[in-house]
Amino acid sequence: MNPCPACGATEFIPLFEKNRLPICACRICSTAFVPDPPSPEAFKDYYSLDYFTGNHSKFGYIDYAAEEPFQAASFRHKAERITRAMGGGRILDVGCATSSFLMQLGPAWKKHGAEISQDLLKAYPPPPEVSMWTGDFLDYPENGEPFDVVTLWDVLDHVPNPKATLEKCWRLLRPGGMIAINVGDRGSLFARCLGRRWHLYIPPTHLTFFNRSSLFQLLKNCRFTPQRWEYEGRWVPLSLCFFRLSYIINRTFIRKLYEWSLRSALRNLSVYINLRDVVTVYAVKA
Ligand SMILES: [Zn+2]
Repeated sequence: MNPCPACGATEFIPLFEKNRLPICACRICSTAFVPDPPSPEAFKDYYSLDYFTGNHSKFGYIDYAAEEPFQAASFRHKAERITRAMGGGRILDVGCATSSFLMQLGPAWKKHGAEISQDLLKAYPPPPEVSMWTGDFLDYPENGEPFDVVTLWDVLDHVPNPKATLEKCWRLLRPGGMIAINVGDRGSLFARCLGRRWHLYIPPTHLTFFNRSSLFQLLKNCRFTPQRWEYEGRWVPLSLCFFRLSYIINRTFIRKLYEWSLRSALRNLSVYINLRDVVTVYAVKA
């Protein structure tokens, strides 16, 4: 069994099974995780186009490209915060999908993206102002100019090795550079109330389930100094709400509601949701 992905401890408590995969919690830092994560090949295969286009068994998106305006609205605040703090420079968005975050940044930024899904980039080619790199982020070339900012939106809970991912970011950043991350917080009130039914316990899509203090510890271990924590909401289409709700309440009427919302004129009605169970942290390379 692998050690805890956040603190490296080797003592665990078995929690429960979800999607036929066991989830354990670390006795030291309470990070929960899938003890036997998929191989890098299986991981790559998982993010084929259907992940972004409504394969219900993959817990992804209904139509990522159509949801873009909502993604953009949710990313605007993050883009403003980073621009206020850093001004501009070279930025790398890891797991950038259709570049919706990068496109919220102004001309002061040289925009770079890393995306594992070749399928997605084939179906939705990146905008010309984004320098795109495709592959497993751990293979991202390290011989270029250092970055001023690296962002990981909805990424760290997906990757098989969060520590190696943060160490990679550290090497890619200049001293004083910023890293910005968001992850689900299993220590949040909402997650604790829902227990195993929490909508972010979705292995093998999510493999690590942090809490705020375990993410803090991991960042410190990787030589980052956390500076700011936020619990932001996001804009989501109504249909995606029902899609995700069907993971919490696995009942026919929720599936029916979801199917109805896809056909209905309300499909693209957006709602602002903040369950305070997703934490964003801004940290600097010490
Ligand atoms: Zn731990």
